[in-house]
Parts: sequence; C-alpha cells; structure tokens
Amino acid sequence: MNSLESMLSGVTTVAIGGHVRPDGDCVGSCLGLYNYIRDNFQEIQVTVYLEQPSKVFSFMQGADHICSGDEEDVVYDLFFALDCGDKERLGKFVKYFDAARHTVCIDHHISNVGFADENYIKGELSSTCEFLCEFMENQKISVETAKCLYTGIAHDTGVFQYSNTTSKTLNTAGMLIDKGFDFSRIIDETFYQKTYKQKQITGRALLESIMVLDGKVIFSAVRAKDMEFYGVTPQDLDGIVSQLRTTEGVEVAIFLYELSPQVYKVSMRSKQCVNVSEIAGFFGGGGHIRAAGCTMQGSMYDVINNLTEHIEKQLLTEN
Ligand code: 5GP
Ligand code: MN
Repeated sequence: MNSLESMLSGVTTVAIGGHVRPDGDCVGSCLGLYNYIRDNFQEIQVTVYLEQPSKVFSFMQGADHICSGDEEDVVYDLFFALDCGDKERLGKFVKYFDAARHTVCIDHHISNVGFADENYIKGELSSTCEFLCEFMENQKISVETAKCLYTGIAHDTGVFQYSNTTSKTLNTAGMLIDKGFDFSRIIDETFYQKTYKQKQITGRALLESIMVLDGKVIFSAVRAKDMEFYGVTPQDLDGIVSQLRTTEGVEVAIFLYELSPQVYKVSMRSKQCVNVSEIAGFFGGGGHIRAAGCTMQGSMYDVINNLTEHIEKQLLTEN
C-alpha cells in the first residue's frame, strides 16, 4: 500500500471526488483528505468536486469550497475517487477522473471492481474514512480533519452499531476524538436530528409500509407527488430505510423513492443473512452486504416483486 506521501510526491494539482448524493462518509472522506493535504502539503493545489451536500455537513472545514456546479475542464495531476463503488457514481465530475494524469480509488464497497489506475478497496472496513486513516500519519491529522473523518465513520456504522464496526473502527474513532472536539454534538446534529418535514415524510413512509414474505421483508415507497407535497428532496429521505429495518422480525427493509415516472431509487438494508449488495448488483447497483442500492424501472409493484424474488431465494437457501 502506497502512503499519501508517496502518492503525492511530484504532484502539484489534486482533485477529489465522491459519489452522487453524497452521504456522511463520502463528504467526510473527501473533506478529510482535502484538509489533510492543505495542512501538510501546502504546495499542492487541491479541489473537491461533489454534488451539494446536505447542510448538516456545512460545519466541516472546506465545505464552503466544494465545487458543485458546472465547472470548466481542468487536467489534474492526480484524481482521488473516494467512497465511490463504480465510476458512473462520480456523476458529472467523471470528466476530471477521465482527464487526470493518474487516478487513485480508495473505497470500502464490496461491489467495487477497481476502476482507477491505483485501487485500494477493503470491503471489510466500516467506512472510507476509517480506511483513509490508514494512509495518514496520526500526528499530521488536525482537529478539523479529525471532525470530518469521525463524522464519516459514525455515519457508516450507524453510530458504531452496525456489524461493520470492529475494535479497529473504535480505536480509529478514539484516536480521532483525542484530537478534541464535541463529537456528541456532531452525532446529534448530523445523524439523529431531522427537520420537521423529514419527520413528517418518515411518518408517512412508516404508516404506509407493507410487510411481505411472512414479515421477513418490509417495504415502503415515496412518490414524487408526496415529496412535492411535503416539500422534501431525496436528501431528506436519508434514514427512512434504517427506521424500517428496526422493525421486529424483519430481515430486509426496502425503501423506494420515485426519481421520474416508473423509475425508482432503491435502498436496501438487511439484518443478518441476506446479501443485499448481491441483489443490488444484479439490478445494476451495488453497495455493502448489509446496505446497498440501485435504480430500477417499472411500477412500484414490479420493483418490489423483482426484489423480493431474489430475497426469497436467499432466505430459502439460508434455511
Ligand atoms: P443508500 O441506500 O444509503 O443510498 O446506499 C447504501 C449503500 O449502497 C451505499 O454505500 C451506497 O454507496 C451504495 N449504493 C446505493 N445506490 C447505489 C447504486 O446505484 N450503485 C452502486 N454501485 N452503489 C449504490
Ligand atoms: Mn461509505
């Protein structure tokens, strides 16, 4: 494994990109690396390209410097793709990846086949932020970098709850909180706190949820007109699938929202035995064993039928 020191040697311009609809781990890893480079490699010019993140992440240093618009073409010496399971998920910023002189991918998605010149993929790690710490020297991590990386780890582990949490995850998070910041506030304000309209749409999704396969699967869907009614965007729907997952007896939770007529964004979570990454992969998406997603076409019922068929097969081979 190359260190950041060696990856950055002889490099003067760096771009960092993550996945579309960036989550806590994606924003945290991109800004964590951005701050680390700015603090320790001052001669390097670094730019972060990401879709506009949720405003809950605006406390991170550098968040106000993220380029989200239609920017001009630039050829960078080095492009880092972080927390991005496949090249398409870089979205419109893929042009910087394609043009860059050298590309590095650092990721923890089990479905990632490695699309860069240099690939570091560890599906067993909780988060890209945990992985990034392996490339950094602890004493060179500033408190602002630590806040970004800690947020990513906390988000991708469901606040250190999911089975992807290991003693190494906790030790890494411990090293980061030793830098000294209000981690309790970060968790509260970025993970648990929701706006009133988010609470309303969550309530609506839970109310209209349906249990199938003997209560092993729960699903719910939000239509574009519901999103319009409550005045919410896709970002506001984060967390609904986790609420569905904690229903007693459920093995798989499925949450859909309508991207356009007959096109649904699918989020899946499983508890113990179903590999949702494999199912999402079958439908052109990907993710992790216990958390994955894809985009599917058809009516809401077509989508659910197609997914439950795969889930049922896995449940049958399990028993
Ligand atoms: P979420 O359900 O929170 O959107 O995503 C769960 C996990 O699956 C995340 O790690 C996310 O990066 C991944 N994921 C979600 N949708 C897709 C997709 O369409 N393609 C791929 N490759 N990964 C996805
Ligand atoms: Mn992640």
